[in-house]
Amino acid sequence: MSPRRHFQMPTPPGVADFHSAGADAAGMWETHRPDEKLVSTHCAFCGVQCGMHLRVSKGDVIGVEPRMDTHNRGKLCPKGVGAYQQISHPDRLTFPLVRDADGLRRATWDEALDRVIDDIRRIQDAHGKDAVATYGGASTITEKTYVLGKFARLALGTRHADYNGRMCMVSAGTANNASFGVDRTPNPISDMAHADAALVLGANVPETFPIFVRHYWELIDRGGTLIVVDPRETTLARVAALHLALRPGTDAPLLLALLHEIIERDLVDHDFVEAHTVGFDEVAASVAGWTAKRAAEICGVPARDISEAAVRYGSAERAMVNHARGIEHQVMGSRNAMAAINLCLATGNIGRPGAGYGTITGQGNGQGGREHGQKCDQLPGQRSIEDPEARAHVAAVWGVDPDDIPRKGAPIFKQLDLMEAGEIRGVLNICSNPIVSWPDEHRTRRLLTGLELYAVIDIFLSESAMLADVVLPGSAWAESEGVVANSDALVCKINKAVDPPGEARDDIWILCELARRLGRGQYFDFAGSRDVYEELRRASAGGKADYAGITYERIEAEGPIAWPCPTTDHPGTPRMFTDFRFYFPDGRARFNAVDYEPPPEEPDADYPYRLTTGRTVAHYLSGNQTRRIGYLVDQTPRPWVEIHPATAAELGISEDDPVRVESRRGEAVLPARVVTTIRPDTVFIPYHWASPVAANTLTISRFDPVSWIPAFKTAVCRLSRHSEAAPDPYRPPVPDVATTLSEDRNVAPASADAPATIPAASERQPADPPRDGPANPPRTEGPST
Ligand code: SF4
Repeated sequence: MSPRRHFQMPTPPGVADFHSAGADAAGMWETHRPDEKLVSTHCAFCGVQCGMHLRVSKGDVIGVEPRMDTHNRGKLCPKGVGAYQQISHPDRLTFPLVRDADGLRRATWDEALDRVIDDIRRIQDAHGKDAVATYGGASTITEKTYVLGKFARLALGTRHADYNGRMCMVSAGTANNASFGVDRTPNPISDMAHADAALVLGANVPETFPIFVRHYWELIDRGGTLIVVDPRETTLARVAALHLALRPGTDAPLLLALLHEIIERDLVDHDFVEAHTVGFDEVAASVAGWTAKRAAEICGVPARDISEAAVRYGSAERAMVNHARGIEHQVMGSRNAMAAINLCLATGNIGRPGAGYGTITGQGNGQGGREHGQKCDQLPGQRSIEDPEARAHVAAVWGVDPDDIPRKGAPIFKQLDLMEAGEIRGVLNICSNPIVSWPDEHRTRRLLTGLELYAVIDIFLSESAMLADVVLPGSAWAESEGVVANSDALVCKINKAVDPPGEARDDIWILCELARRLGRGQYFDFAGSRDVYEELRRASAGGKADYAGITYERIEAEGPIAWPCPTTDHPGTPRMFTDFRFYFPDGRARFNAVDYEPPPEEPDADYPYRLTTGRTVAHYLSGNQTRRIGYLVDQTPRPWVEIHPATAAELGISEDDPVRVESRRGEAVLPARVVTTIRPDTVFIPYHWASPVAANTLTISRFDPVSWIPAFKTAVCRLSRHSEAAPDPYRPPVPDVATTLSEDRNVAPASADAPATIPAASERQPADPPRDGPANPPRTEGPST
């Protein structure tokens, strides 16, 4: 094979170069640099899944190079450029830890695994199978999510399996299922190239999905109309034809009024509604009273702007609706998404190029992670766990009786109540950091520390792992082979670049070993990801998320393939519903009537401001990974509170002043960022940090009653100028290039007696914040040295 710089090779527009000649079976290319290979993969840090090459030398990932790909055309955002630095990061967990009276200490794998098994057995013998739960992540490859769902049902025998997409895509998924009968974004984001108008709801695309912003710019450049609905003037809102800066939590009145205006002005596609939908008359009656004037009073957007938005969207030949967490992180989350889909159905904007609907996925595998069984109500292939046919199909693939598969369990935020009631006493958490990511941090801390078993599989000692009884060092995204599904439901191939460091093991091996020690190893006889994926294809066959026709080899040869793809000669499904048939027995889409329920907290004399939270471009989710990558930390070292100048002046606050933000749950002191790009009645805090600067010490434990997504976007707070400087965030060590390139990375510590390199808890974590619940059991210290 001749050496070459792969990114210099010409690639036809729109064609992934993943399959260019020269790759070996593992997806590696040689380069002109001695001892170096390029491994073709995708960025792990958001649902765009940008294509990239990892530079690999001497068993280390030493850098990244661009790769032409249909999603990103060779571009990466700051997170993508730095993502590789987590692989050889000096903070990586390289051996298991178990807790004793002095805190976490180093353990052998046998000791750590046996401790988990003993505790599971003890808890389940005393309290039943359902007393132990699993909590998974959607930033991992789909194979891990599949094994975790199967592990919960067959190894633990528990009903209670759920995942962190409960904070991400569940409201959109609930609405997609209710309206279309399937949980998948119908139109690819690239359909924006054909649209005449786009309505973007609660989506700060430039910060959360930066590489996809070009699609909106292209729309504007072609003379299309961009309408942005957001309490903040994001950089996307700044270039929009219309920016509707509504009060947080009032999206439903706005959406109901938009439909009302569309009906009043007869912009309805009557032929489409008549031929392909059910329920229009009921929904039309339900919005009859929602005039633009009435909505304006609630959401704070001028009535004329609501009317103009309705006309511009409703009269476009081809129009798209996109939404993200802004409208979903509310008690109205799934109803807001249904109201958005009602607009698409009423105007016949679905199933055509540039005419449709798309959800913007936050997590790297936010789509694939919600398809194959790690959710509380789901079996692989996006099947219902309560459906007898689905149970029979999956049971046959697994080699068990259908009655051996437990029934539907509780969503994770309902499980919190079961923890409080003592019904759930053990949790196995893989790849998630609830202390930072769940609402109401004090409650989260109290519940996790109250468990009899809290076991964590992770690559870093996250704020949550520091509270665990057992920490099992797992594998990062570049250390496993597998697939992910991006925001467009394109199934992408992730290739393994290196082995996990030290004694760390592949997450799939850890789950299979736990199953073996529970006496259920016969159902987890997987040599690796490829075995898992082959079983997943069979388990998904015939389901809605049908992967049967997508093989590793096909993705390597053809590039990413969108499901459903039932056979190996099926081309995949980049755009859904092109025949206007939906996933209901009669083939018709459903209108869903939506009632408005005000946010659980409204401003009052004590707490007069609305608080909304969100992301910033340099960090990913709980920050467990990105807060350790030096140049991302340098770019955005700490959170802040965004305040309008009028509000700041009223309170005597200037730029960079320390501001105490208090809610009924807690408080944080943060530097002020005084900006004109936010409503005067609203403040914004990015959420990627832990105490003492955590946004989630302030947010409220209230949830959408159907999707169980938290109402992150609708708390209230009060503000005051603080007399002391804002505290620094807990800051994990910044990566050092020399350490990153260490040749010792794959060398396990010499002996079990070698001192652990993990700093003491006092160096890594602020003191526990005050809590108002029962005192913690003795789990107050982190790892010993
Ligand atoms: Fe692409 Fe998202 Fe990674 Fe940025 S974070 S490089 S947009 S996949």
